[in-house]
Amino acid sequence: MTYFEFTRRFPTEEAAIDFIVSARYGDGYVCPKCGCVHKIYHQHYDPRKLYCNNCRTEWSALVGTIFGNTHLDLRMWLYAINLCMVSRKGVSALQLQRELGMGCYKSAWRMLHLIRGAMGRDEYRDTFEAVVEIDETYVGGKPRKENRHSGDDGHRRNRRGRGTSKTPVVGVTERSSGRIYARVALPAREGKKLGGKQLLKILDDVCRKNTTVMTDQLNSYGILDGRTGKDFIHIKIDHSTTYSLGDGRHTNTIESCWAVLKRSVYGVFHHVSVKYLQQYVDEFCFRLNNRDFDEAFMKCVRLAVA
Ligand SMILES: [Zn+2]
Repeated sequence: MTYFEFTRRFPTEEAAIDFIVSARYGDGYVCPKCGCVHKIYHQHYDPRKLYCNNCRTEWSALVGTIFGNTHLDLRMWLYAINLCMVSRKGVSALQLQRELGMGCYKSAWRMLHLIRGAMGRDEYRDTFEAVVEIDETYVGGKPRKENRHSGDDGHRRNRRGRGTSKTPVVGVTERSSGRIYARVALPAREGKKLGGKQLLKILDDVCRKNTTVMTDQLNSYGILDGRTGKDFIHIKIDHSTTYSLGDGRHTNTIESCWAVLKRSVYGVFHHVSVKYLQQYVDEFCFRLNNRDFDEAFMKCVRLAVA
């Protein structure tokens, strides 16, 4: 939605509340106390509250959702969700704070944190089929000082690619749809490579039986050459010889996703701590997988009230 469309769709705070409440309950309210489905009304003094005329209970229509504890206007929340959907690289808390004219950076940050949590509930289990590509990338800042091994010159450069102390993210893309699923996967020990079992677990989670899996030559993918529970078919690509032969043997799809992820992590968010990296990755996947802005907006609101 453009700003103009947004203000037309949600001209008032009541319109925003109605929208969220109906995303949650559909047309049927249920009283949490007596289970009654009739005679439930919005409180006239606070449209966020519902009232059951059968057992005379009042409750918040938003309890248990990401909007449950907010004192901010729900219009601001919907605006923030819409902003997350239409910004190709994501929205920083500072940017959101400015857009919404919020006094407090922490509130803007918390808002994005909860919205990303909702996006992270998008479900991918057992949905990828036919041909997928799997690959890892490494994101994050330089290694922390205390983790550096002192070399002769007193400090160590952060190595690129595998063996770096950045944080690994493993991603799987489905060729036919272009959908991506990605997960932060910390190796068993710092500085170690990701294990085959870790990689296989991720494929097991998202892929159907007999999926063909394209990988590069990382040794850990060798686990796919043995027996796997879902009988995956492994195609290993030797980047030095078969690159862009035009026979479909490549991992270019996932690699171009990584380029976008890195641009957003370094360009918009500057620094993402390991603790919150999965959330950024969830947001990134959600945006790539739901490219129609209006559908993505609707889906995010539904996940937010789920
Ligand atoms: Zn009741």
